[in-house]
Amino acid sequence: MSVPTHVLDRLTLLAVVTDAEGNVSYTNPLARNSVAIPLGERFSPIARPAHMRIVKSISGATDRFTTAARVDGRTRLVEWTVSPLERGDILYTGLDVTRDRRSLAVLRESARSAKDASQAKMRFLATMSHEMRTPLNGILGMTGLLLGTSLDSNQTTYAEAIRESGQSLLALINDILDFSKIEAGKLELEKHPIDPRALVQSVAELLSPRAAQKGLEISSFVSKDVADRIMGDETRLRQILLNLGSNGVKFTENGGVLFRIDADAPTKDDTQTITISVVDTGIGISEKDRTRIFEEFAQGDDTQTRNHEGTGLGLSIARQLVDVMGGTLEIDSEPGKGSVFRFSISVATETLDSCAMKQPLMPPTVIVASDNEFLADNLSLQLREVGVREILIARSAKDVLRLASKHPGAALLCDIKIAASGEPVAAQCTKSFVLLSPTARGRLESFKRAGFDGYLIKPIRQLSLCERLCGRAKQDRPTRLRLDTHPDTNKKGDNVTYRVLLAEDNQINAVLATAIVKRAGHHIDVAGNGREALEAFEHAHYDIVLMDMRMPEMDGLSAAKALREKGHTDVPIIALTANASADDRDACKIAGMDGFLSKPFDPDELIEKIERLIREGRTSTGHALSQ
Ligand code: ADP
Repeated sequence: MSVPTHVLDRLTLLAVVTDAEGNVSYTNPLARNSVAIPLGERFSPIARPAHMRIVKSISGATDRFTTAARVDGRTRLVEWTVSPLERGDILYTGLDVTRDRRSLAVLRESARSAKDASQAKMRFLATMSHEMRTPLNGILGMTGLLLGTSLDSNQTTYAEAIRESGQSLLALINDILDFSKIEAGKLELEKHPIDPRALVQSVAELLSPRAAQKGLEISSFVSKDVADRIMGDETRLRQILLNLGSNGVKFTENGGVLFRIDADAPTKDDTQTITISVVDTGIGISEKDRTRIFEEFAQGDDTQTRNHEGTGLGLSIARQLVDVMGGTLEIDSEPGKGSVFRFSISVATETLDSCAMKQPLMPPTVIVASDNEFLADNLSLQLREVGVREILIARSAKDVLRLASKHPGAALLCDIKIAASGEPVAAQCTKSFVLLSPTARGRLESFKRAGFDGYLIKPIRQLSLCERLCGRAKQDRPTRLRLDTHPDTNKKGDNVTYRVLLAEDNQINAVLATAIVKRAGHHIDVAGNGREALEAFEHAHYDIVLMDMRMPEMDGLSAAKALREKGHTDVPIIALTANASADDRDACKIAGMDGFLSKPFDPDELIEKIERLIREGRTSTGHALSQ
């Protein structure tokens, strides 16, 4: 043999040498002790002693292979490497990997049980949030009813505090439910055409009352390169924008929050990459915190952020939703200056024919008068986008007068503070508009008397801005529909009394729904479960059924099915449930229900739905399940 055996004897690897026929001519002590290969036995990747089996062959089964040998009741795993020697002899060196493999198996097992535990945790969270919705429905609903009675001012304050706390708790429960869905991989995105301009505007409008309370400005800007319609999940996009925007408002004391969408040009197959940013001029985020805050339940270390309420779930949910959409949520931030949260996603697009914003009738010069730098900057951004060539910023009434005398054809966009200064700013410009917050609408007359041609309500829509400056708008019409105008439920839409049957086992919720339905002028009977609901139909006729899903004896799904089978096919059924998933909605539809309202529900919405479904009636094929 050409390798000196005294070297192999001391090797820390197993060593076996065979002759040209494959018979073992040498084994070193380690090989003898651990795998017990006798001299003269055949040993190769194919032939081996009886107590040994080949576990795995690598590289065409010739130069590396693994064996499992049973010795003294224990299995030893050895990875062999084959090295040819002179005269056809072969040297096999082996590495004992028994311990490594065992550790790997242990690791795999612990990873599996960690995954099981995490799924169990998520199931627990989902069940708990579901269970919490039912009592919360009682708390919020009853408080709403209480606030509708004659209370003195102290009682009103207390009841409003209960309602606000209930609403925060509901937001938290929704967050936890979302979070558990995302973690369990159960989140499915929908795809519908979305109007991106309306989307950012609606989010800006939703946040504007909260921002106005802090004296902050909310702006939105959508570049004209962004398609008129993009395909995506509007609810989830709105949720991301709201989470980021609410943080912006929460962590900003001066300036404001901007929602912004930019885009690459559409590609040939009608897709484009859009970049959505939420910019604020708030406290900013230190470099150390920038990764940490995306973790669930994590909040910034800064003592300033500790003063704010929150759960630490908002960013984690936003990041995971962006991930599911195929993007990455990133932060740019400078402590003390503000933050930008930004992500890019690729979306399918649709282009519509008409776009008022592409009109070329803009005044060439516009003076933007505001002492809020954030507002002035973002208005300038919008004005540039709609084709205004020269934008001049005025920080005071004096500035406006000076600029207007130098630029005689200029139009004026004037923030309320400067407009109310008493200086004749409007008279000096060809067109002048005052910028109002929704609550300042009442002061409109005084601005008209001061010479203003019209007004724009903040947050300002790009389209309204265009229309005003082009002079196309009717000045006496409000610029936008207020999001927060609800139909007045005390006035019943239909002047008819309907007979409503409620199937509900929870006493408090039954009292609540009964009060809401009665207040709207309808008659209501309550059945304690599905079976009682069926029995009620034997004695009376009902125009509509409100059906809880989980009830003892007979649940809502079975009761709905049974009602349809018994020939009550023209009575609409609305599911009232704490279950909020798409699967639940489908199950209700299959069981023959016509509407779905998740608890806690809005009283106005309940009445609107009852009256609409009865008015429209069921079609023979049934309704599409209304939301
Ligand atoms: P929450 O706002 O409920 O605490 P989030 O997950 O939304 O939870 O945010 C986590 C933390 O990130 C916040 O507590 C805050 O420290 C920091 N943060 C988030 N957004 C901003 C922002 N716009 N400006 C400054 N800090 C922010």
